[in-house]
Amino acid sequence: MPTRSTIMDANSFRAAHADSLDEVTRELTAKREALLGASYRLFYRNPVHVVRGESAYVWDADGRKYLDVYNNVPSVGHAHPAVVAAVSAQMARLNTHTRYLHGAVLAYAEDLLSTLPDELDQIMFMCTGSEANDLAIRVARAYTGGQGIILTSEAYHGNTELTSAHSPALGSGQHLDASARLVAPPDAYRADWAAEGSVGVWFAARLQEQIDAMREDGIAFAGLLIDSVFSSDGVFTGEPGLLAAAVDVVHRNSGVVIADEVQPGFARTGDAFWGFARHGVVPDIVTMGKPMGNGMPISGMAARREVLEAFSLTIPYFNTFGGNPVSIAAAQAVLDTIRAEGLQERARVVGAELRAALAPLADRYEVIGDVRGAGQFTGLELVSSRVTKAPATALSLDVIEGMRERGVLTSVAGPGGNILKLRPTLAFRSSDIDWLVGAFEDALAEAL
Ligand code: PMP
Repeated sequence: MPTRSTIMDANSFRAAHADSLDEVTRELTAKREALLGASYRLFYRNPVHVVRGESAYVWDADGRKYLDVYNNVPSVGHAHPAVVAAVSAQMARLNTHTRYLHGAVLAYAEDLLSTLPDELDQIMFMCTGSEANDLAIRVARAYTGGQGIILTSEAYHGNTELTSAHSPALGSGQHLDASARLVAPPDAYRADWAAEGSVGVWFAARLQEQIDAMREDGIAFAGLLIDSVFSSDGVFTGEPGLLAAAVDVVHRNSGVVIADEVQPGFARTGDAFWGFARHGVVPDIVTMGKPMGNGMPISGMAARREVLEAFSLTIPYFNTFGGNPVSIAAAQAVLDTIRAEGLQERARVVGAELRAALAPLADRYEVIGDVRGAGQFTGLELVSSRVTKAPATALSLDVIEGMRERGVLTSVAGPGGNILKLRPTLAFRSSDIDWLVGAFEDALAEAL
């Protein structure tokens, strides 16, 4: 989720500076607003008109090349030839839905389940992460008999009625489900966790408080819905093992853990194929989407058989496009490519190199409060003071705009809109680091 401040800044800037945009951009922007309405938001004060992508890069209509450090959806690289070939071949043969037998759908289900812990032995397919989380909440409620879901305080889980009511990142205009409760994320940089020994134990204690508060309000606890890299809360990848205590708390309180892997899944964190697996925990339900089909709409919800049954034995599920053979062909090509190109290992190594290249900048710029991450998911906090850690919101916006002008596309996360979210495709290589770090440093120096 781009933060609300980013969007408002870009919108009001464009309204005030329409004359500074080139003619095509001005026309497309105005037409877009007229035709698509105000809910559709654009990145950047000077929007990028992308027409082509390859590997870690995209090109705009004028032929200018950009380094894409934002899009985790084309995760094995823009227009990856293996995905393009698989999709084209299947599209030319047949596309139907899951009410017919299709071997490739089952072969993919088996292959995907082999990447998950043995306990998670069933998988259902849909088209978006929102649909996966929507179903997961229904399944969790059916299995536990409870209603209440706990979320981290700036989480985003989707755009359906149910998931948007479980997405505090959408802001005060969006109502939260009456049975939902919020817990602060395990923010090792800001949280006051020292007395509890570790930020993981601190987080588990806050979680127990929310479960207790929920019960006092007469709401039965159903589960914890959690993104293990806390991408919209501000990128708190943490030390491996961080979530173990929290998962114990959920299970001790008879709830289920829903791991929302839309962001960390499919090898991004480098240490493991799934974000939760970095922490050595086994969730009860796992949802996935974005990188799964490299841009083809496909998502999934895996669950322990006994957890799923409370729902699946009573309620039929059909999703017209979910798990269609063309999307499955894309998804299979993604899995095959991650393995064939060693992309999990590349994410681990190159992500660490990127953070190592950013670290010395913190000695030169007081405003860099923290650099953290796992694999190809890096968060970089800009603060106005290292003592108060106050978010440098306006500066962060100027920096991402300055990076855009230098051909590097990225965005910010967190409630203060001050955490640069560096999340390139897994095609990003060591040789791309200089461009990214150089653009960041130049943009920062200019904005200060
Ligand atoms: N969960 C998380 C953690 C996400 O980041 C998103 C999308 N930003 C979603 C769920 C929703 O996915 P989709 O947009 O595919 O519905």
